[in-house]
Amino acid sequence: MHSPQSSIGQKLEFKKVVLAGNPNVGKSLIFNHLSGLYAEVSNFPGTTVSITSAWYKNYNIFDTPGIYGVSSFNDEERVAKEIILQGDVILSVVNALNLERDLFLTLQLIDMGKKVSVILNMMDEVKKQNLKIDTKKLSDLLGVEVYETSALKGEGLDKIEEAIQKARIGKQDKLIHEKLKLVKDKITNQSEALLFLEGDREILKKYSDIKLPITDIREEIYIHRRNRVKEIVDAVESKDTPSGLFFSKLGRLALNPLTGIPILLLILTLVYFFVGDFVAQRLVDFTENTIGKGIVEYNLKKLVAHSINTDIEVTILDDDDNAIQNKTFSFPNGISNDTKTFQEFEQFISDKNVELNFIFHNVIAQFFFGEFGVITMTVTYLFFLLLPLVTSFYLTLAFLEDSGYLPRLAAMADRLFTKVGLNGKAIIPIILGFGCVTMATITTRMLGTEREKTIATAILQFVIPCSAQLAVITVLLSAAGPKAIVLYVAVMFIVLILTTTLLDKLVPGHSSPLILDLPLMSLPDPKNVLRKTYYRTLGFMKEATPLFFLGTAIIGLLNLTGLIIVWINFLEPLTTKWLQLPKESAVAFIMGMIRRDFGAAGLFHMNLSVYQTVVALVTITLFVPCIASFLVMIKERGIAKGLIIWAGTWFFAFTIGGLVSQILI
Ligand code: GDP
Repeated sequence: MHSPQSSIGQKLEFKKVVLAGNPNVGKSLIFNHLSGLYAEVSNFPGTTVSITSAWYKNYNIFDTPGIYGVSSFNDEERVAKEIILQGDVILSVVNALNLERDLFLTLQLIDMGKKVSVILNMMDEVKKQNLKIDTKKLSDLLGVEVYETSALKGEGLDKIEEAIQKARIGKQDKLIHEKLKLVKDKITNQSEALLFLEGDREILKKYSDIKLPITDIREEIYIHRRNRVKEIVDAVESKDTPSGLFFSKLGRLALNPLTGIPILLLILTLVYFFVGDFVAQRLVDFTENTIGKGIVEYNLKKLVAHSINTDIEVTILDDDDNAIQNKTFSFPNGISNDTKTFQEFEQFISDKNVELNFIFHNVIAQFFFGEFGVITMTVTYLFFLLLPLVTSFYLTLAFLEDSGYLPRLAAMADRLFTKVGLNGKAIIPIILGFGCVTMATITTRMLGTEREKTIATAILQFVIPCSAQLAVITVLLSAAGPKAIVLYVAVMFIVLILTTTLLDKLVPGHSSPLILDLPLMSLPDPKNVLRKTYYRTLGFMKEATPLFFLGTAIIGLLNLTGLIIVWINFLEPLTTKWLQLPKESAVAFIMGMIRRDFGAAGLFHMNLSVYQTVVALVTITLFVPCIASFLVMIKERGIAKGLIIWAGTWFFAFTIGGLVSQILI
């Protein structure tokens, strides 16, 4: 190729110059400008990642795949890392509009002890948007040269050669310097030493004899680096736009409990209107009843009933969903063999508010498609009730997270949470629990230690009612009057304090302190929010779907084998004598295992006194979680802990429900 040769044919030592940066910062444009027509594209050895290199004057220039940090999680990152490690000079290409994200890599390159110059690209956009960046200050803070460019317009590119010549080792951070000392004797190359401390898998392997708590060190370095980025950005970007001032003020107010709690209440109210009212009531009513039951389930069942013995029970409801008329249509040979009755049936239900119950006189069809059919019920529940709900919860969460509010809330909640063995971060799964305990149990993964995960999981399973349950509880309580509301809230509050204190004492292990990085508050980027929501929802659906099917199948089998009746009979004395509730409430409790709201909904039809309502609701809130969240809990916490928590909920629910009953009634 075009590798310049010396007169005696020996390849000269040319400096390797590496362009490094996040994706889409303009590296390729800059590279193309430098390489002209003579770029060389090859595959990096052992990978399918192609790398481009070229000769520019006396330099060998390399373009690298876009990365957010130097590490080796995938091939692209590994290739970029290798090239960077071998580079003599690194041109850190930065999108000037996105300093907060991009400077992380720049600082990492400087921390690696590389010779760096910063190419501050997209300056045309910066000017267009009337933003101001103090390049000189940026250069001072980083300790390396910074060059403004607009690769698109070709502006500033004539300075690239100077950037290469003046590249130097930047300001070495104190904390990093301290940490590097830990491995100084064993790893002489500073770049490798840093990557070792940051847990780079390949480097760890290379020096596998060095034993250090890498996870903690990496966390500390990352958080420190992010905070440095923030400080730098705060110092060089002028935010004296009205919206910038507003958000930095809001950020401070959200942190101070005096103003932070009213802000939290305001946000919760807004979230309630969006998730609790709009999505959980109106949207889900449409998706669950009109689409799920009305179209999908109905047509599935019609298909199944095609040629097998089926009865369809029709209940006509008034505007308040009270039953006003019942009628059963029988199809001993399936609906296809009795089209006349079917037409009659369709006419009977047209334009009416009805509830349909297909009864298949065939065990398998009934098991999969009947009233609590494994397939029909799970599909409706998962896709037409949970999916909209979970999506809206994750959407809200991503919005609050990206706006920078959530870390502030966690910081504010931290003092309270440390009292019960958690840190402020646990507020996130707890809030999610009010949406869906299954989703929240999966989210406990974000907590630091196993002990915290266990405590949070137990709190979720014990005391937090999910949205489906909340809806029923609210209706029953408001019907029972203010006395019931006060009693219920008081009992739940006492239980919450009791369980958390107990858990803190009983669960072994240690809890981690809250290490938070407080980003600036700002309006979140909608694309990013949507992307997060999409991936989290997808992740939840992938994990939860098989468990919901399994859970419904287990309950279905218990039902089919009659074991459920044995269980209900076993519970009956407990419910009638100890809880002093009508004997049908045992059925309601067991139904609560399929879906918690079924349990509470079963109580609608009983004539309960005010005190009985409180007893029943307390018991059912504390009672076993729905079977899907139980299965998730087993998966996340293991069978032993899962069963202990499960047994604990039974014990607690009946003990406390009973005590309340004995005191009140
Ligand atoms: P790479 O992924 O870092 O190689 O980035 P590219 O060179 O492919 O550029 C990504 C996008 O940013 C392209 O659409 C470019 O046109 C655009 N871009 C690159 N540099 C500039 C710039 O200085 N100003 C503006 N406005 N756009 C740019």
